[in-house]
Amino acid sequence: MDITFKGVEHRYMIGTPFEKAALHPVDLSIPSGSFTAIIGHTGSGKSTLIQHINGLLKPSAGEIKVGPYTIRANQKKQSLRELRQKVGLVFQYPEHQLFEETVAKDICFGPMNYGLSEEEALKRVRELLPLVGLGGDLLESSPFQLSGGQMRRVAIAGVLAIRPSVLVLDEPTAGLDPEGRKQMLELFANYHKQFGMTTILVTHHMEDAAKYADQLVVMNDGGVEMSGSREDIFKQTERLLEIGLDLPETVRFLQQIKDQFHLKEVPLLFETDE
Ligand code: ADP
Repeated sequence: MDITFKGVEHRYMIGTPFEKAALHPVDLSIPSGSFTAIIGHTGSGKSTLIQHINGLLKPSAGEIKVGPYTIRANQKKQSLRELRQKVGLVFQYPEHQLFEETVAKDICFGPMNYGLSEEEALKRVRELLPLVGLGGDLLESSPFQLSGGQMRRVAIAGVLAIRPSVLVLDEPTAGLDPEGRKQMLELFANYHKQFGMTTILVTHHMEDAAKYADQLVVMNDGGVEMSGSREDIFKQTERLLEIGLDLPETVRFLQQIKDQFHLKEVPLLFETDE
């Protein structure tokens, strides 16, 4: 499903002394079937932006279109049930949302909530477990007896079990070591390759964005600073550096990919102006 943001603004705590404009008017298109990475400083508005895609947050102005669904500012009484069935959202530390007695029940919760019988839901669970790297022997275990990595995979399977057309991942590798991070991202990359759903990954790792995404969105100070194909964005080296995205890591990374993306000169780290 194509996703478009038109003039979307978001203010938190409207009418209080703490009112905060977290998104300035955002215009953005995310192509259907793409693997899009959203990068930007902490506080640049990435989480706020993506929570509009399944209606968890309502825009203070503007509209968001997700396939045939439209969410507008000031729209009263809107059923989001169908939209939420289409957009799967994996939060940071999704394992904190596990709550059922067994792994099977936890993964079945979403699809059964959307009307699948227990039998059909269990069939999905059995298909999903190998895809998320879990053994079938864990089905009757309590999710709370599993390792942190396994718990996260159970929580992710719970989101995949609704078979979303759009999968939104908010820093799904937070807290994982480099090997765990790689395995988790390979899982999403394989899933995207196999099922082709629009996948949106919020990350602050430039190299993950470069490795897995075909489209990039760069956020800065509540606005979309740049968006486009990975190649087009990385070619704008100077602008990327101006935004100062995690500068040492960015420079080091741009040096590494210089030849692959035919980049112009990339400044050396710690180079002085003399
Ligand atoms: P990011 O995901 O890029 O770190 P966020 O979308 O979380 O950025 O935050 C954008 C801005 O909105 C920040 O200034 C943040 O402090 C503020 N913000 C986020 N969530 C809330 C909230 N629930 N209430 C008030 N302000 C918030």
